[in-house]
Amino acid sequence: MTAPDLASAVRENIDLAPLNTLRLAARARYYSEATSREALKAQILWARENDLECRVLGGGSNIVFRGDFPGLVIHMALRGRFWAPCAGDSAVLKLEAGENWHESVLYSARAGFSGIENLALIPGTAGAAPVQNIGAYGVELADVLLDVEVLDTQTLQLLRLDRKRCEFSYRESRFKKEPGRYLITQLRLKLTRNRPPVLDYQGLAEAFPHSHSNPPTPLQVAEAVMALRAAKLPDPAILPNAGSFFKNPVVAQDHFQRLQRLYPGLIAYPDANGMKLAAGWLIDQCGWKGFREGQVGVHNRQALVLINHGTAIGEDVLGLAARIQADILERFGIMLEIEPRIFS
Ligand code: FAD
Ligand code: NAP
Repeated sequence: MTAPDLASAVRENIDLAPLNTLRLAARARYYSEATSREALKAQILWARENDLECRVLGGGSNIVFRGDFPGLVIHMALRGRFWAPCAGDSAVLKLEAGENWHESVLYSARAGFSGIENLALIPGTAGAAPVQNIGAYGVELADVLLDVEVLDTQTLQLLRLDRKRCEFSYRESRFKKEPGRYLITQLRLKLTRNRPPVLDYQGLAEAFPHSHSNPPTPLQVAEAVMALRAAKLPDPAILPNAGSFFKNPVVAQDHFQRLQRLYPGLIAYPDANGMKLAAGWLIDQCGWKGFREGQVGVHNRQALVLINHGTAIGEDVLGLAARIQADILERFGIMLEIEPRIFS
């Protein structure tokens, strides 16, 4: 990218409200779109030369803007979906980081490949998917991710990190632990035509009662997931939100057993590190479901989702989150962890 190209690519004082699904008011001092790897490198270098902090933004569906950002916000806009040749019933799908995740799920399912159909209707970009190892309905990205291409912002080199080096765990990854170090430019997913559908979650099992004799296609599963989500989760275009605001906590067996004696209705599932508790249930027990105060609130069908009712700012949302965390800590002895990334 030449100097004049760069000058026109970087814009000043940009309103970020339309670029985050919580619709929080915030401005970026500088903003650019990266439509190529060269542009991405040039923009990072420009920020470095001007002593500015740099943040990458995808669809803005998993962030909370605490206030204005004094550095450069780079919108990841690399586009492209490619099938790589593969033997037998498998295929490798390459997704450029700026591709819309949900459209990519439908693209794969329509081609008859399974692996990501349970992750339908998750907003945002492909490039952000590894950041929190997106998951839903018993499937997570790590199940199918072969590797990612990243730009190392320290060296400005492009690298490939295989799944192991991404250090995935439940809604976690290396990219969360080392924020800003690696910008994801491409994903490679290993998909297949013959994987049995994952239908463990109640709503999905109910949608396909005869799945043993008549297994649904990947597209049918994706459509069932879309229907379940549409019935329960608020559409950010109508009620601005960032999805689940808290991660489901995993507690040790003895903690779980103590809680279960006190609360026989406790919703919990076995996890490799103990028992995973449904954070939405904990929040509901403390009476927060449907709560509204001023411009912020808790969704009335899913207590994990915090809502901006109009003109809330980041501090309003984080203030409500802190009150919920304090209640859950006092009642259940659990500190809920905020899931979205906080930009400040
Ligand atoms: P952004 O919000 O733009 O960014 C999130 C973080 O990733 C930021 O720290 C950003 O800097 C970083 N980032 C973005 N792109 C890159 C990149 N290319 N390289 C490096 N870092 C990057 N999540 C789930 O796991 N499961 C769900 O079922 C789910 N459902 C949701 C439903 C709703 C209604 C909403 C609003 C959110 C939901 N989410 C869910 C959360 C969110 O959609 C995902 O985390 C998604 O992957 C975020 O993508 P994004 O492009 O919007 O990321
Ligand atoms: P749900 O089906 O009502 O389930 C409530 C909670 O119980 C979920 O958090 C889920 O954990 C857990 N759960 C349910 N059945 C399970 C099973 N068979 N095995 C293990 N855990 C089980 O949840 P929902 O609110 O309608 O959401 C449906 C799916 O979409 C969930 O997977 C959820 O994570 C995902 N989702 C995520 C976000 C986000 O922003 N992160 C937003 C909306 C929906 P898990 O969350 O670990 O799956």
